[in-house]
Amino acid sequence: MSLPIVESRPAAPDLRSFDLAALTEVVGAMGERPFRAGQLYKWLHQKYAVSFDEMTDLPKAFRERLVAEARLGELVLDKEQRSSDGTIKFRWRTEDGKAIESVYMPDDTGKKRRTLCISTQVGCAMGCGFCATGTMGLSRNLTPGEIVDQVHRVNRFLIEEGLEPGPRPLTNLVYMGMGEPLHNFENVKASLGILLSPQGPDFSNRHVTVSTAGIVPNILRLGAETDVKLAISLNATTDEVRDRVMPVNRRWKIADLMKACRDFPMKQGRRITFEYVLFDGINDTDDDLKRLAELVGDLPSKVNFIQYNRNEGLPYEPSPLERVDFFVEGLLRRGIQAMARKNRGRDILAACGQLAAEGGPGRKP
Ligand code: SF4
Repeated sequence: MSLPIVESRPAAPDLRSFDLAALTEVVGAMGERPFRAGQLYKWLHQKYAVSFDEMTDLPKAFRERLVAEARLGELVLDKEQRSSDGTIKFRWRTEDGKAIESVYMPDDTGKKRRTLCISTQVGCAMGCGFCATGTMGLSRNLTPGEIVDQVHRVNRFLIEEGLEPGPRPLTNLVYMGMGEPLHNFENVKASLGILLSPQGPDFSNRHVTVSTAGIVPNILRLGAETDVKLAISLNATTDEVRDRVMPVNRRWKIADLMKACRDFPMKQGRRITFEYVLFDGINDTDDDLKRLAELVGDLPSKVNFIQYNRNEGLPYEPSPLERVDFFVEGLLRRGIQAMARKNRGRDILAACGQLAAEGGPGRKP
């Protein structure tokens, strides 16, 4: 008996991952004129279309060809939780069934900022000791389309729910959700290319921040190849402690990290953000404050202090709030910009350290 021959065809390309130049090539290969790529790009990245059917100014025959030969990668909203402070946590399912999360934080400063914290990987390989995402390991990188789609779907959600007016409710993006953005450098860079493009979502590079645990060579690449803001998840002032809480430090020491920060191209008026999660008795001593001031004092920087959110099963405790104030005031007294970052959405487990805490693929500090 002969076995049936199963033809294996490569998956149709996800057009959401393509920048305008690549989309123009795809459209050209289909025999369409280049301006059709612009129309398609606008539907995808300004009108947040989720199907080719919606693209009513494209000829029907072209739309039918797109359905047959291409696809729009899909994030399906699995769960949405709203906090009393306006924060909304979204859990998405990817096409292969993985769970990822994004957190929407509306403005509470009077500056009309509406920020989305986005994920870049399913899980994370960095293994930070205080972070539940880190305990899960890395499942896979997100594609550029999956990174971008978190933004578009939240924009669409906010408009449809009447929570914010269109056409572009979100003003700020932070790459601080699940995963280490610089461990997925190429796809993060490609997503930035789309999100910052004037023909697309047109985010201002002053309003987009990429955060890293400290992959030094890619900090330098980020500075050379993009023009967005940098945040460093620092969390310790000695290599001995940082090696323990953030294993990436065993590869690139604090001195290497700070050198990369000094070499990072800084436009006028920009600052590097240092995130410093305070763990009781581990990184919150008086000496830590002095060392921290020495580390960041010669850089245009601001330091955000975050009281740790307990994660079940992980052996870290939050520093008392008085300690958070002590660190903020200690830096301010030395002329260094510092603030206590509010834990948004604590009641829906969307605060730092709590993403996917209810059984998703990971939890994030
Ligand atoms: Fe990964 Fe960030 Fe968690 Fe570290 S803190 S394990 S880099 S998600």
